[in-house]
Amino acid sequence: MSAHGLTDDFLQRAQHALGQDFLRQAVRKTTDRLRDGRAQAVREAGDFEAWRDALSASRRRAIARLDAVLRVFVERASAHGVQVHFAADAAEACAIVVELARAKGARLAAKGKSMLSEEIELNQALEAACVEALETDLGEWIIQLAGERPSHIILPVVHKPRAEIRELFEQHGGITLSDETKVLAGYARDRLRAEFLRADLGITGCNMAIAETGAVALFSNEGNGRMVSTLPKTHIALMGMERIVETRADFVDLMRLLPRSATGQRITTYVNVLHGPKRTHELDGPEELHVVVVDAGRSQQLADRDYREALACIRCGACLNACPVYSTVGGHAYGTVYPGPIGAVIEPLYARDDERRAELANASTLCGACHEACPVRIPLHDMLVSLRQANVRQGRGDRSELALQRVAARAMAVPFVYAGGGAVARWFGRFVAGDGAWPRFVLHHTPVLQAMARQRVLPKPPVRAFRDQWADLAREDMRGSDGR
Ligand code: SF4
Repeated sequence: MSAHGLTDDFLQRAQHALGQDFLRQAVRKTTDRLRDGRAQAVREAGDFEAWRDALSASRRRAIARLDAVLRVFVERASAHGVQVHFAADAAEACAIVVELARAKGARLAAKGKSMLSEEIELNQALEAACVEALETDLGEWIIQLAGERPSHIILPVVHKPRAEIRELFEQHGGITLSDETKVLAGYARDRLRAEFLRADLGITGCNMAIAETGAVALFSNEGNGRMVSTLPKTHIALMGMERIVETRADFVDLMRLLPRSATGQRITTYVNVLHGPKRTHELDGPEELHVVVVDAGRSQQLADRDYREALACIRCGACLNACPVYSTVGGHAYGTVYPGPIGAVIEPLYARDDERRAELANASTLCGACHEACPVRIPLHDMLVSLRQANVRQGRGDRSELALQRVAARAMAVPFVYAGGGAVARWFGRFVAGDGAWPRFVLHHTPVLQAMARQRVLPKPPVRAFRDQWADLAREDMRGSDGR
């Protein structure tokens, strides 16, 4: 670990991201736009806080009784002919899907957007079983062609310039295209349409299951979700075991808040609620519908009081858009499937012995903006502090930083030492603030400040301490109240 408790790998990825002008501008612009969209939706809604209360309560209710809620779901879904499978971990989830593919003699699986499939690395498992896995969500397809990971939960390709997308399509099709969005989207549409009809399997995620009706729901702004879940004869929906609400009324709470929190939309273009395979009198739909309920670390999280509430997450991405770290470096700097504040919390929980994921708790300013934005009020900042404490207990902290913090803690406990230390820090701060030659020289020779100053100009500290300024204000107030 280096300064800030982050490994060199993380710092290199962040440094790489900061060096890419397009990525920085695109991520900032997109997260700003999504945040503005959400703010507008909040203003329009009027009752937004009441909706948040309702959704927070219904998600926590479902999590608190998860085993019973899942039992009801299995019972109701099975009654409609849905086949529900349970997978303890990623390997088991992949094995179930591969086995279904083998049983159907499948050669091609058309996939809708699913972060869970990224998490369990389903594409790799299908490819190993000689089943082609084709992403049909436009952003996911671009990512697949580029051999990358999504960099945002809902906008996987936010980091990629249009010219790069054009080049990918040109290599794929062996043709020449322009950079126009219409042309690029048209190319993707033409190429993907034919594949839906050829696909033996349709694989999607599940935004939320409804126990009362035994249904699974998908929110989407592209028509591919409907085609993937309708055209192939066999449809498999992958569902994290926590992605369930008890009743239709709870689902309405979700419908109000998921699109508004994610993109600022009142509702997504498509909401598909799947109740089972095609019935005899129906023209469309799969002949078989399988739901694979995946645990992969979630039971352990459920048993852990400190982090249980994170299971209420609806994967809207609002915390990513609000996070100053994410909106500066984008998703790939995190090096994990789930980036941003929610990723920094759940990734270490899903793989508790993975050092690389443990450090993510340090990639945060702890400003609390994620908590403010979260539609289900998950206290992400508290969880990040708790993960940091666990890291220190497990000896993962940076030694010099820990020593510095111990000294600071002692100094803060003694008022005159604290005041004296502040005076020294303000005096020293004046030498390193600004971007002149002298500050640059001092920073260059002060290793502990180098990383902090690499991307920003340090602000000049005030001449007088806050406590002195506060005392002045209090004295002025007193004089005012005396009528003098
Ligand atoms: S933690 Fe909250 S804001 Fe972040 S993705 Fe989950 S629900 Fe959305």
